Amino acid sequence: MEISEYNRDQWEAIQMVRRHLGILSRGQVGRIRRRIRPYLRFRGEVADFQRRHFSEVCTEKCFTSQTSACCGREGIATFFADVVMNVLLSKREEVEGLLQRLSQGTGGFKCIYLGKKGCLWRLKPIVCEMFLCEQARDTVLGKDEALRKQWEKLRRREKRYTWPSRPVLFDELEEIFIQAGFDSPLMYFHRSPGLLRIKAKHINHRSKRSA
Ligand code: SF4
Ligand code: SF4
Repeated sequence: MEISEYNRDQWEAIQMVRRHLGILSRGQVGRIRRRIRPYLRFRGEVADFQRRHFSEVCTEKCFTSQTSACCGREGIATFFADVVMNVLLSKREEVEGLLQRLSQGTGGFKCIYLGKKGCLWRLKPIVCEMFLCEQARDTVLGKDEALRKQWEKLRRREKRYTWPSRPVLFDELEEIFIQAGFDSPLMYFHRSPGLLRIKAKHINHRSKRSA
């Protein structure tokens, strides 16, 4: 069966990450694991926030009627760093499961990674983690300023890992693989004109300050 461009790019990214992590020394993998620890703590806090404040509205609106807008779209954007961290944290059979799903065709009107029990990723992509539909946002955060501020704080913290106006983890993880000779359309921090502009602005700003 011919697979879509999206599936192929995802499949190849997972394979290259798996292959490269497989040949790195234990020390090198350990360094990546240590480097991603603060991000994983952050993800734990976001997941906890979502669980405490959104599970009720999400269950009522989506999970019981199975009409979630969260996973009801094809071709969800994933960063290469999302793939790196997910493969690093996944069991071998979980990675096999993702590859198998990607080689089976499209998910129709749903995300290809949506399984019977939810997302097949161990650590789902950051775009998915930070998504709240308008209705959920309005219902939960609408009248609660303190809660809204907490969510905004989490959004700002997300940028410390993903917004390249300073050196960020997501860019760094891509760089490790680029240095090793890999290339993927998912390497947005080295390919997206928008992100490259932000990086260039930051580098110019830094060099002016140090001149
Ligand atoms: S955030 Fe919105 S679309 Fe997503 S599961 Fe919750 S209620 Fe549904
Ligand atoms: S990757 Fe997972 S969380 Fe994100 S849309 Fe797909 S199934 Fe949902």
